Amino acid sequence: MEYYSNHINKLIESFAALPGIGTKTAQRLAFHVINMPEDDVQALADSIIGARKNVQYCKCCCTLTDKDICPICSSPERDKKTIMVVENSRDLAAYEKTGKYKGVYHVLQGAISPMLGITPADLRIKELLERLKGDVNEVIIATNSGIEGEATAMYLSRLIKPIGIRTTRIASGVPVGGDLEYIDEVTLLRALDGRTEL
Ligand code: ZN
Repeated sequence: MEYYSNHINKLIESFAALPGIGTKTAQRLAFHVINMPEDDVQALADSIIGARKNVQYCKCCCTLTDKDICPICSSPERDKKTIMVVENSRDLAAYEKTGKYKGVYHVLQGAISPMLGITPADLRIKELLERLKGDVNEVIIATNSGIEGEATAMYLSRLIKPIGIRTTRIASGVPVGGDLEYIDEVTLLRALDGRTEL
């Protein structure tokens, strides 16, 4: 890499450090940026910094939001007694797109994975249990149907059921290992309607 200027090398390294980007793609992106108009580069840099600075976790449901409390948690229209637990904000968005779910969410920010070294302590489970001290009728566990999502669902049901709150799991009509965000709305709603007691 000594053939390039240090600035380009640094840029390539920065891109290569991102998930899913190999050295070749990193080089392509770096050279693309070098050839972009300066204004466009500035706008790209601003949007990265702006997102990082202003996006935070909702103090209630832990989804990504611009405010202390996200629009869903602060909406008087939503049923605060029904909490759907999802792995990430993309899964939340998938259910929101259906426009049919009227409860609120809790975003774990991941799933238990011994392979990746993700333990329950790494997820927003403490925050969920804190919410369950309030008036809650049902917790719908909507983690993905892969091994990690199922392990997380099992772990959560063992924690929540003894509290005496109805705990349900979305139907596994969704393809095994399928990320919720890629599943169509009809299938998502069927999975929700067909949820079973844990
Ligand atoms: Zn929220």
